[in-house]
This record gives sequence, C-alpha cells and structure tokens, in this order.
Amino acid sequence: MRHSAGAYDNCSMGRVWLIAGLLFGLGAAVTLAAGPRPPRAPNTQPAGRRSASPVWRLKSHPTVALTFDDLPAAGGLSPDDTRLRIASTLAAELKARHIERVYGFVTADDLQDDPDSQQALRAWVDAGMNIGNHTWSHPSLNSQTAARFERQVALDEPALRQYAGKRDWRWFRYPYLEEGNTLTKRDNVRTWLRAHGYRIADVTLNFEDDDWSDPYGRCLAQHDQAGIAWLKQSYLDNAAQFIRVEREEELLAFGHEIPNVLLLHETAFTTLMLPSLLDLLQQEGFRFALLPKVEKNPAYAVDPGVGSPDGGPLPYQVLIARHLKLPPFTPEPVERLNSLCRQPPPA
Ligand SMILES: [Zn+2]
Repeated sequence: MRHSAGAYDNCSMGRVWLIAGLLFGLGAAVTLAAGPRPPRAPNTQPAGRRSASPVWRLKSHPTVALTFDDLPAAGGLSPDDTRLRIASTLAAELKARHIERVYGFVTADDLQDDPDSQQALRAWVDAGMNIGNHTWSHPSLNSQTAARFERQVALDEPALRQYAGKRDWRWFRYPYLEEGNTLTKRDNVRTWLRAHGYRIADVTLNFEDDDWSDPYGRCLAQHDQAGIAWLKQSYLDNAAQFIRVEREEELLAFGHEIPNVLLLHETAFTTLMLPSLLDLLQQEGFRFALLPKVEKNPAYAVDPGVGSPDGGPLPYQVLIARHLKLPPFTPEPVERLNSLCRQPPPA
C-alpha cells in the first residue's frame, strides 16, 4: 500500500518477529501490521492534459540509483539471523554487480546498545557504501512540529559523522516519504535542511518492498516453503508493475523520463530477493548510477509545493499537486500479505 502514514517503511516494526514467535508459541492471535491502511490515492483525479498511456515513450536504458532505508535494523529479525549478516550480504551482492557507493539511510536510535547493529553499519561503510540521515528514531513529519523534526535530524548526525568519516553523509530521506502535512511545515523543514547543507534524497521508484518483510518472517518461522515461494513471486510481480507505472508517472509529471532513485529496505527478505530484483532491472534495460549524479537532474529541483499528509515519490507528488491523472495500476496484494502464515502449522 502506498502513500499513507506508515506505508513506506516500517523500522518501528524492528525485532517484532521475535515477539511474534513467542506469541505463536503461546497460541495467541496477534496482529503485527499497523492495521489496515488506506489505499494509494485511487485513479479518480480529473483527466490530465497528457495521455495516460505513454508506455511507448519509455527509455530503452533508464538509469537508477539504488538506496536502502532504515539502516541498521530494518524489519524483523529471526532468532538465528543477525543485522551484520543482512548488511554484509546486501553489500556483497551490490559489489559483485559493480554497484558502488550506494546510500543507506540511518536511524541512529537503532545503534544504541546493540553491537550487532553497530557491526552491521560498520560493515556497510567498510564495503564502500555510503550513509545518509533518516532522523534519529523515524518519526513522521506529519506527527511532529518542524522544530521537533529538525532536532530529530540533528540528533542523527553524531553517528553519521562517526561512521561515514570524511564521506558525504548530508543526504536526507524523509521517513515514510512524508514531507509535511502543511505547506508551512514543509517549507520550514526544507529551509532548515538546506541551511544545514543537506540535499533531499528524493525517490522516483517505490514498490513497498518492506511490506514483504513481516510475512516472510512469519513463513520462515513456520517453515512454510509454499508461502515463501508466493512471497518471492509476488514481490517480483509487484516490483515489475510499480517500476513500470512509476516511470509512466515521470512522463506525465515532467514530459520525459528522468534518472531514477529506487527505495529499498535493508531487511532479511531483501537479502533473499536482491539478486532477482537486480536481474529484473537489468532485463528492463536499467543502468546503475550514483545518487548524487542522478539527483543533479533538474527535475529533482522541482518542489511540488503542497502540504499533504501523503507524501510519496517525487513524480507522484507532482501529479497530485497538479491534479493530473495517474496511470492505472493493480494494487499490492495487501490482504494476502497480511494474512499469510498467521495460523500456526497443523500439529
Ligand atoms: Zn524509513
């Protein structure tokens, strides 16, 4: 599900699998998801000035910078897994594909009193990857005053300085991609970020990859191989569709496709899926690029300039601000994701 509070990423769900395992052991029913979320803004906006079917204009070789959110502790963790394994596995896969200096966005709260998370972040940086600011503890700007949110950004900085050393960490990713529910708040935070040397790490491609994380943890705990097989296939189907739809949104928002930034999360399920996802991107003709180079494109200087509780990828925000029609899409299989592997396996 997209474009709603809690929809984009979910680092608050960290370590929840351990709790889930305990509760399953007790035979208790538990709802791990944050409750039903409103669907992505439905395709009911007034018709735009441009065609809603611009597939034929997509590039043969689009560009994408990969990014990972919620370092060092995205999603749940199985009892026999570690944050260090997850970070090391992802970095090794990226390096094997010659995808370098990928940005991971850090919530330093997760480093506290957690040597595994500290080692994971060190391993990511030592593998040549970069880090940026994702606030101290991942609040939504919708629920904070601008001043409080700015303190959250500042609180994250000592850890970024410590781990990044001389590398450029002044890139900022909004939690949940929510940039301010009022225009005043939005402008206040953007001004603060600029004054403190930050660039905003806007996103163009997001397929809610972290919504597969909790069901994967449940199915893993139950050794449900059929459930895991469905998760793998539906993840790739969902990725393929939304990457295509969001490229079409760029055409509608800007009149042409722009270099992309893809949002992923550093979860255990991503370690399983990253090789297939990179294959998919390469089959679609994508070439990999560095975040700072991608965001030099003039489209990233566009500010939709509307306060909204929804946020979302930049092209989507532009379409909504201009009341342009969205391309059609099939919603994410949210009901099955939420219900999969909920029941303990038969004795
Ligand atoms: Zn996040």
